Amino acid sequence: MKKATAPRREFLKNTTIAFGMATNFSAIQNLEAGIRADSSKLTIACVGAHPGDPEFGCGGTMARYSTAGHHVVFVYLTRGEAFDPAKSASESATLRTREAEKSCGVLGATPIFAGQVDGATILSRSKEDEMAKLLESIRPDIVLTHWPIDSHPDHQVAGLLTMTAWIKSGKKFELYFYEVNTGSETMAFTPSEWVDITSVREKKKSAMFGHQTQSPEKLYDTLFKTMEGFRGFEAGVEAAEGFVHFRSKTIVASIQGT
Ligand SMILES: [Zn+2]
Repeated sequence: MKKATAPRREFLKNTTIAFGMATNFSAIQNLEAGIRADSSKLTIACVGAHPGDPEFGCGGTMARYSTAGHHVVFVYLTRGEAFDPAKSASESATLRTREAEKSCGVLGATPIFAGQVDGATILSRSKEDEMAKLLESIRPDIVLTHWPIDSHPDHQVAGLLTMTAWIKSGKKFELYFYEVNTGSETMAFTPSEWVDITSVREKKKSAMFGHQTQSPEKLYDTLFKTMEGFRGFEAGVEAAEGFVHFRSKTIVASIQGT
């Protein structure tokens, strides 16, 4: 995998402003610009607590990245060991690993499993080091993870481990947060960027529906279809995914004429 060259890093850092001006009223900014970065290929890692989280949270955006030729990796913190009390942890893990691999195939992503256990994820110094090393080995240009203000403890852990890895890396990659099940899981989430997923909506749906153990039809009809439409409404397109671009510095806007 290639690392970003200095000019590409500058491009990634500066595109929010550049595209904000170029598209005038469009809310679609930095991530959207990255998809069209045809000068060199990017590596994007999406960290999720459970199989299905990356697909439901940002499957459309990741489908657009992989279709454009960029390298997409899904890092699953666990294998979904705890989803069914009637099954053993290993039976559940096997089932959900298979679903994740199938969905990754649909979205053009490479699955990696980070070895924590569903329902018992740990936030500690050693787990922070593990995540930092794992992400370092992927050498990502962009990393997306759970917004840590979330009712599910595993989502909190995934988000915070990733944020700490970003700090440990010297903030070498661009960090984004995504939302899942907003209202019941993700809370207090206000996107700073939107990506148009209208053209890949069916592909994302197919990846989501690969997670049959999660009753995806009900999840889609009651939550994700509405979220995609609402984020699309905010961005002025049919369907979109919203993200928070986490920045290490406050950007002070300049006021014209002063
Ligand atoms: Zn989850």
